[in-house]
Parts: sequence; C-alpha cells; structure tokens
Amino acid sequence: MSLSEKISATVITGFLGAGKTTIIQNILQNNDNRRIALIINEFGDVGIDGDLLKGCGNELCTDDDIVELANGCICCTVADDFIPTMERLLEKEIPPEHIIIETSGLALPEPLVRAFNWPEIRTKVNLDGVVTVVDGAALKDGQFAADEAAVETHRQMIEEIDHESPLSELFEDQIETADMIILNKADLLDKSDIEKIRDDLETRSPEGVTVIPSQNGELRLEVILGLWENSTRATRPSSSHHHDHDDHDHEDFENLHIQIPPLGSREVFLNRLSDIIREHNILRIKGILAEDNKPMRLIVQAAGPRVNSYYDRPWQTDEQQISNLILIGHAGLDRNAIVSALAGDG
Ligand SMILES: [Zn+2]
Repeated sequence: MSLSEKISATVITGFLGAGKTTIIQNILQNNDNRRIALIINEFGDVGIDGDLLKGCGNELCTDDDIVELANGCICCTVADDFIPTMERLLEKEIPPEHIIIETSGLALPEPLVRAFNWPEIRTKVNLDGVVTVVDGAALKDGQFAADEAAVETHRQMIEEIDHESPLSELFEDQIETADMIILNKADLLDKSDIEKIRDDLETRSPEGVTVIPSQNGELRLEVILGLWENSTRATRPSSSHHHDHDDHDHEDFENLHIQIPPLGSREVFLNRLSDIIREHNILRIKGILAEDNKPMRLIVQAAGPRVNSYYDRPWQTDEQQISNLILIGHAGLDRNAIVSALAGDG
C-alpha cells in the first residue's frame, strides 16, 4: 500500500439478529490474509460474548484491532468514542488495511457517516460504503427484527443514547443511508417473497442501491467490502473452506475490467459513472485513472450510488498512464453499452 492511499472503512448496520455478526465472521474467514480492524457497537449480539470474533484472520492482527464500543450509542458518542478509536487504529505502527464498523440497529447511521468528514478522519480514511443488513424472514412477517422485544431491551442497556427513535424510524434511516442492502435469511423465503421485499426496499432506498439476497451471511468480499483478490498479494495457501464458499453463492455476479484512455474531465467522467451505476445496477467500482495534464493518479471507488475519488500519488516515470476500471454487477452486464457510456457516446 502506498503511503497516501486511504484506508477504506465499511459501515455495517442493521437490527440485532439480522445477521451482521455472521457476515463479519464470514469476511474474516475469507479475507485473504488482509489486516481488517473491527469497531463493534452492538449490544449483546451473539458472537462477541461467545468470543467468535477472535482475530482478524491475519497473524499481524492484535487484540486492539477489535474494539468494542460498549457503553454508548455510536451515533451519540461520535466525538468521545468513535473518532478517538479511529485515530488510535490509524496511528498504529501497522495500520489496518480495511476497517469494518458494526453499528447497533439502534444507532442512526447518518451522524456516523458525517463523522467521516471530520478533518482527522477525512485525510486518511475513505468511507467505502454503508451496508444495511435486513432480516428477510422478519420482514416477511411484517416485523423489522426477528425479536423486536430483544432490540428494545438492548436500548435500556445503553448508558448513552440521545434518541428514542421507534424501530420503524430507525429502519427507515438504515434504508435511506444504505449504499447496498443485504437481504439476509433468503433461504427462509420463496422466490416471490424475495422479489416483493426487494422491490419494496429498492423503492424506499436511494436510486442506485441494490438489494442482494444472501443466506447465512455469505457474500463475496469484492461485493461487500470492495476487496478484490489481489494476485500480487502474498496469500496463505487457500483452505478448502475458502473454495467451498464460492459454491454456496446463490447470486451470480460478474466482473468487468475496462481500460480507457486518460480522462478529459474528472467531473464529467464521475457523472457518467453515476449514470452507469444506476442504469446497470452496478454494485462496486474500483479504478486507478489517468487524467489529461495531471501528474497524479486518480483513485475511484464506488459502492452502489456512493462514488469516491481522490489523488493518491504521482505517476512514476516508468508507469504507463492508463486508466483501469473494474466493475461488478449482476451476471449479464452489457459490456458494450457500459464502454460507450464511459466514452460519453451512451
Ligand atoms: Zn445514537
């Protein structure tokens, strides 16, 4: 990682019991030896107490890469808890490669998202995206969580919480702040239930947000965190578990790798990307781009409708200034249409 490359942070939100911890466990088991730090603000979820989130899956990870913010609601204690915790992780001798923040379903995601604009954080961290996990089986039964009473009980356990938002309002906030929605427990639903819930959630969320059905929290890392397998990375020999994992995928995804000439205008190009994300239901974009008459590389990352870009470092004299983009979407992407839209002929 180059010194100026920002560390990406993914916020995972959703009510107690929706399956956030299972998703995070799957990430850590399949993380290709990356150093992933966790900030956890769930109360009494399975896993934490059961010590299931023991380490990040890399031998360089230490105990302090997993931080539990157990006393207050993360959105109410941004200045006192969240920002100092992030700063401690960033100041580490070996900082994490990616940070996952698991919020309790009682937290409002919006104030947390705004915290990424604080100067201490913005210069070093890129908010990768907000992933909202919903409980498909509960939604089918007209509930927000499998055990709504348990969610309410946990509200009483929190020492510092400044809002009494009802579950319906919290759910609305989770959906409206989402860049991607995981419809978990899809194995408990039939096809028509999935379609119905999916349509409903896509109508209520910002344009460009895709709902992805999942079973047992199993999702590919490039989808949920934007972490593609990197062939130049030194990896441990893959365990058989890693390969089994791919066989369980019930959602078919497709990667497109597209090379384009140096950009004329960054702004025009980013607008085109946003249009492509909406029109082709793109889940993820990652790119290193060259811009006409600019000595710096432009890094572009997108999770659903959230598109981030920044300059990371100058092009080296021996590097070819060429733009490489990887897009991931549902199988059957129209490569020709996307290529023309990128060129502005779409
Ligand atoms: Zn709060």
